[in-house]
Amino acid sequence: MDLDSLNGGHGVVTGAAGFLGSHLCDRLVGHGARVTAIDNFITGRTDNVGHLVGTDGFNLVSYDVTNFLHVPGEVDFILHFASPASPVDYLRWPIQTLKVGALGTHKVLGLARAKGARFMLASTSEVYGDPLVNPQPETYWGNVNPVGPRGVYDEAKRFAESLTLAYHRAHGLDVRISRTFNTFGPRMAVNDGRAIPAFFKAALCNEPLPVFGDGSQTRSLCYVDDQIEGLLRLLVSDYIGPVNIGNPEEVTMLELAEAVQDVVGTRPGVQFLPLPTDDPRVRRPDTTLAERELGWKAQVPLRDGLERTMPWFREQLGVA
Ligand code: NAD
Repeated sequence: MDLDSLNGGHGVVTGAAGFLGSHLCDRLVGHGARVTAIDNFITGRTDNVGHLVGTDGFNLVSYDVTNFLHVPGEVDFILHFASPASPVDYLRWPIQTLKVGALGTHKVLGLARAKGARFMLASTSEVYGDPLVNPQPETYWGNVNPVGPRGVYDEAKRFAESLTLAYHRAHGLDVRISRTFNTFGPRMAVNDGRAIPAFFKAALCNEPLPVFGDGSQTRSLCYVDDQIEGLLRLLVSDYIGPVNIGNPEEVTMLELAEAVQDVVGTRPGVQFLPLPTDDPRVRRPDTTLAERELGWKAQVPLRDGLERTMPWFREQLGVA
């Protein structure tokens, strides 16, 4: 398959009203696919896909995918992106997070099996937990605390990966697994607690940027357009996965705070806050596999991505 093969196909996207799901819908519709977009709006917003409603072949359905799931007609591929994804969200909805990773993934795999559709799971770099190797290759099994507060997300995704491969091995289901690393861009929720929205919000309001711990922990941040391109390439590839999709440009939180202040053009400084439990100390994808199997690597440097993202936060915060 290649991206042109999406033209005329019918895809189901769960979590379609979220940050990544809505960008995926845009690209799929742009490639001429028909899209059934499913979301229960626990963290997503209709605004994210409002511009697509009324487009030929785009159908938005309000539904909780932890329940029995039926979609009429043929389905060619399913992108399972439903899940609270930011720490603020999954700590607020711990049981819903475990349910959508476990029961939701089971229901969506069942739909894929019934339709003979290709199934892609949105997994995460959080399966690596607080990693003991850096960068993280797909072969690393991770260092996750199953009983810590973050375990609700990390373990749900680890279970979802395992269930996806069980369906592949037991039923021959055609599956793909992405391991998405931190991604940012327009349509991120301003108050989702992740570093980039929090830093933009503070810098645009000229208030100190909230930095956890001493700010020496690292993250590697991927611009959303790069991420979506990687995900779609994985979808149409022959490689089952898991495949890391992320930008290996690694920065400390203090460096990120500097970069956001540079881009915004204010200098309120930072305030240090207690480090959350089990916060990963380092995070960086080894993208060798994606480069080899998908011919993909991130193109947008962090600084460019921040510049492209700033107008979104200005608009959301009503800051001129
Ligand atoms: P998001 O919160 O913006 O989107 C998730 C969407 O799923 C929301 O619209 C939410 O309402 C929906 N949802 C949650 N539970 C549901 C349910 N039971 N039934 C139907 N819909 C449900 O988050 P996002 O950042 O767009 O993340 C999307 C996916 O990508 C998630 O699975 C997440 O784990 C994965 N991911 C994201 C990142 C990132 O950096 N954004 C990194 C790694 C993995």
